[in-house]
Amino acid sequence: MTDHQWKKNEETEILIEDLGKDGEGIGHADGYTLFVRGALPGERVRVRIMKAKKNMGFARLMEVLAPSEDRTRPACPVSGPCGGCTLQHLSYAGQLLAKENKVKNCLTRIGGVDLSQVEWLPIQGMTGEMEEPWSYRNKAQFPVRQDDKGQPVVGFFASGSHRLVPTEECLIQHPVINQVVERVLEFLTRQGVTAYEEGTHRGLVRHIFVRRAYFTGQLMVCLVLNGNKLPGEEKLLASLQEIPGFCSFYLSVNREKTNVIMGKKVELRWGNPFIEDKIGDVTYQISPQSFYQVNPIQTQKLYARALDFADLRGDETVWDLYCGIGTISLFLAKALPEGRVVGVEIVPEAVENAKANAVLNGISNATFRCGAAEDVASDLVKEVGADVVVVDPPRKGCDAKLLDTMVKMGPEKIVYVSCDPATLARDVKILQEMGYRLKKVQATDMFPQGGHVETVCLLTRKV
Ligand code: SAH
Repeated sequence: MTDHQWKKNEETEILIEDLGKDGEGIGHADGYTLFVRGALPGERVRVRIMKAKKNMGFARLMEVLAPSEDRTRPACPVSGPCGGCTLQHLSYAGQLLAKENKVKNCLTRIGGVDLSQVEWLPIQGMTGEMEEPWSYRNKAQFPVRQDDKGQPVVGFFASGSHRLVPTEECLIQHPVINQVVERVLEFLTRQGVTAYEEGTHRGLVRHIFVRRAYFTGQLMVCLVLNGNKLPGEEKLLASLQEIPGFCSFYLSVNREKTNVIMGKKVELRWGNPFIEDKIGDVTYQISPQSFYQVNPIQTQKLYARALDFADLRGDETVWDLYCGIGTISLFLAKALPEGRVVGVEIVPEAVENAKANAVLNGISNATFRCGAAEDVASDLVKEVGADVVVVDPPRKGCDAKLLDTMVKMGPEKIVYVSCDPATLARDVKILQEMGYRLKKVQATDMFPQGGHVETVCLLTRKV
């Protein structure tokens, strides 16, 4: 460690040692931590410091001096500037290894887990026959903005900014989703409908939201507007109706100065209020506001593993907390001929979907409640208790109050499905200190080409 104070625009050579949570390379310059987008572990790189904070800085990759054997040429022409795929320059085998290592590192460093005591199942990647780690996404939210000439353009924001990188074809999206975007853009241009401009808070169309059901091909489109009406709406509808599967069209009004995409008002303008998809032999109705996993092929593997870890006898009571539209709940309910499932979810529309989905599939042993898991669980303890608890929280992990309630209730098993290994590890540490033991772990790659990773864990009560 030296006393050198790194400053903006200084250049240096470093060795990349690790990948950060968004797939950025991490290295050190005389003990000072630098984050470098696009750099891979094992590489010697020349970087320029762009932002120097007290304990760490962000640097731009200027030159790869010694490339990693796993470096590949990105398939997408905008993979550098676009903030979406952060690992396209890493071979798919390399991505899987990096993700698995990330889960291992978090569990050992943050969670204090002794991995020799844990059954570790190898990461599930998109490596099966007929599988490809491309064109997998079933949902997109493309921002629409104005170019220099005031014309509407569609694309994705550059990493950490609101600068639009134009692209009408995203290689991880299903091709039909790209087709929708092309049609919408064509309509906006021809019709002279304005795109939103953040600086002035003017212009009409903010986002194009598209969701496509993998199994049925049903297609939902929602335009998010900084206004109440879409001029020439019927022309857009006519164009979208030519795309097979299109069956639901919404407008959402969002006039706030906010990063939140959907407005509070979401109005069905044409077709069905939801689309239907299938996972295994369960059919699901999905509203625009509801969470639904974005990688349908990997979702099947993820849920199958969660069910496998739960290892149900068939007569248990199971809580499925953070249940969304009841995806995991209904899978569990089918495996419980003499048992039952209680799902808890905070978004009212998702709870409505979950209830309807139970009916749709003739499942009568699953009930759903709307509310924050941490609040509803404390009430549930008094009423039903649980033998098994499944949790699938958003990135911030479980609320401390919820962990406390779960431990006090003392289910035999906790199946933790996580989309952030760092908060998973934090929660595993707490659960291990409070009488649970981490037994099994499996990572699943839900986001090929991106940096995130999903993990399923089994924790059992110590006897
Ligand atoms: N298990 C579902 C959903 C997982 S995503 C699936 O696999 O599809 C996480 C879900 O938790 C989202 O539906 C989100 O709306 C919900 N959520 C977020 N915070 C919550 C809270 N405090 N209590 C209950 N649900 C919450």
